[in-house]
Amino acid sequence: MSSRGAQGSGALRALPKVDELLDIASAQGSLTRVPRPVLKAAVRDVVEGLRAWIRTEEPTEEEAAARMRADVLVRAVEAAAARRRAHSLEPVVNATGVVLHTGLGRAPLAPAAAEAARCAAQACALEIERGSGERGQRDRVVGELLCELTGAQAATACNNNAAATLLAVNTFALGKEVIVSRGELVEIGGSYRMPAVIERGGAKLVEVGTTNRTRIADYRAAVSERTGLLMKVHTSNYRIGGFTEEATLEELAALGRELKIPVVHDLGSGLLRRSLVPYLADEPTVEESVAADPDLTLFSGDKLLGGPQAGICVGHRSAVEAVRKNPMFRAMRLDKLILAALEATLRLHLEGDAERTVPAIERLRLPIDVLRERAQGLREAVERVLSEARTRGGSWMSDLQVSLMEATSEAGSGSAPTIPIPTCCVALSHATVGAGEISRRLRLATPPVFTRVKDGSTLLDPRTLGEGDVERVAAALSSLNG
Ligand SMILES: *Cc1c(COP(=O)(O)O)cnc(C)c1O
Repeated sequence: MSSRGAQGSGALRALPKVDELLDIASAQGSLTRVPRPVLKAAVRDVVEGLRAWIRTEEPTEEEAAARMRADVLVRAVEAAAARRRAHSLEPVVNATGVVLHTGLGRAPLAPAAAEAARCAAQACALEIERGSGERGQRDRVVGELLCELTGAQAATACNNNAAATLLAVNTFALGKEVIVSRGELVEIGGSYRMPAVIERGGAKLVEVGTTNRTRIADYRAAVSERTGLLMKVHTSNYRIGGFTEEATLEELAALGRELKIPVVHDLGSGLLRRSLVPYLADEPTVEESVAADPDLTLFSGDKLLGGPQAGICVGHRSAVEAVRKNPMFRAMRLDKLILAALEATLRLHLEGDAERTVPAIERLRLPIDVLRERAQGLREAVERVLSEARTRGGSWMSDLQVSLMEATSEAGSGSAPTIPIPTCCVALSHATVGAGEISRRLRLATPPVFTRVKDGSTLLDPRTLGEGDVERVAAALSSLNG
């Protein structure tokens, strides 16, 4: 307490009481429709915000008094109430250049998929056969479409790939052992670590080989009557280089057939065919995995498939049926909105035009000359806002520098982490406002814009922009010109 200046403690004493400010706020016409608990929370936000400001900035008495004028306080409460009532998942602009950005919801849905989800919000024939009126299966159509797309015998889908892996382990190896190569015991992000998933699936992990080399003989030597599952995991988010060796999926599938032990491939990123994104050369495809013939191949719906969050299981009929009969499957089943969006995405792939109609694929394929053109268009839109700012004057934005910069985009979500994808960005920089601060201001703008920082500049990557996003970036910049 004693470290605070006398001015700070005076200003703290002058802070409005929550109840007093609440009385003033509730008397305002503009706030009468705000529910009482929300209004109270908004008033608390304002008072707490002022307290923090006084403590860190130690304003003079005049500065503090100006912030605590009744009309200024009321406007602050209005803004705080609006923030509290705003949708937390409002649309933002992804200008990061990371196509499958986990923080921004991974794959952007195709308009057809979003529309399908919107339609399914009403009553829909989710689990009823229309002919007989009897109970049907919610995953039937998605399963059929997945079989057509992948050539697998059977297919289903659940909540996400983590759930699919947990289900597979629990279905085939409950109380038994799962054999995995030491080089494949990956952590995919935060809480998803393969050893923990196997343990929580009710199985015991048996590691074989070494970090850099595992041979099929290592798996064979580890098999016993306790073995429930042989698992191969795609090391999505890292690569081992140099003196390495892995047993192939074909070898593992053959060993499983010989010893009558199920084989599961956790593929992760779910690129259906190589030709969809040819330069992702070291990313294994669903087609290759199914051709190697493991009992099950597992992958995400919202990575390179370009659909909603889902965990897709394709493979042998008996294996898919075993997973569907596991009581845990019911706890991880897909909701109708997701099923509708997944079905629509699979149909786009089946139409054979995913290069144009599935946004994740379309964005990954954008060639550099198109990106240079789009960067130029974006730069012009940004310049228009800045020249307005310069005419008006008095804003930090008058001194924002804009240029074009060649850089690299990323697939994201652990897909092809080592492959740089050439792009051309609009780079913003400022003599006194750092790139991190420019990025922060853009995140807090209306609408919010997410960027990345490189070499002291804030980069806006046109690769990840969607329809209307250039105008939205311009609107966001305008909203900062206060
Ligand atoms: C991404 C990934 C997962 C997790 O998938 P979610 O759909 O996010 O649950 C699991 N395994 C691999 C190999 C992955 O790449």
